[in-house]
Amino acid sequence: MNKEFFKSLFKDKKLRRSHPRLLIYQELSDAETSLSPQELYQCLLKKQRKIGLTSIYRSLDLFESLGIVFKIINGSSVKYKLCEIEDHHHHIICKACGNVVELNFCDISDWSKKVTESTGYQVIDHQLNFYGFCKACKKEA
Ligand SMILES: [Zn+2]
Ligand SMILES: [Zn+2]
Ligand SMILES: [Zn+2]
Repeated sequence: MNKEFFKSLFKDKKLRRSHPRLLIYQELSDAETSLSPQELYQCLLKKQRKIGLTSIYRSLDLFESLGIVFKIINGSSVKYKLCEIEDHHHHIICKACGNVVELNFCDISDWSKKVTESTGYQVIDHQLNFYGFCKACKKEA
């Protein structure tokens, strides 16, 4: 996800693109890996950017709800990774090393139909994660 897309997303949603949010986005973008809120806090502090943990948590929650970041929960650790795919997509998470790969396909229309048939709900959204072992971890397992 590039900076222009990030900016336009906030404009479309009429959200304030505040300075801390932009810095947090930039940090995640530069990291190219997943970061915990504490790691983000430390990274920003090193650059003389004092942003409170609460505000980091709030921004990450917002980013997650907008589909900008993916929240990786592995045991007791929680990390966030900036999504590269801008449209609707899914993720597979390695249970051993926590590595995440984005999946640029989604083919669950039959499933949605079944949900509608059995519940009468009009399905508008869904979340689905895959878990497994990545190529490197699979060998060891
Ligand atoms: Zn993603
Ligand atoms: Zn792995
Ligand atoms: Zn999907």
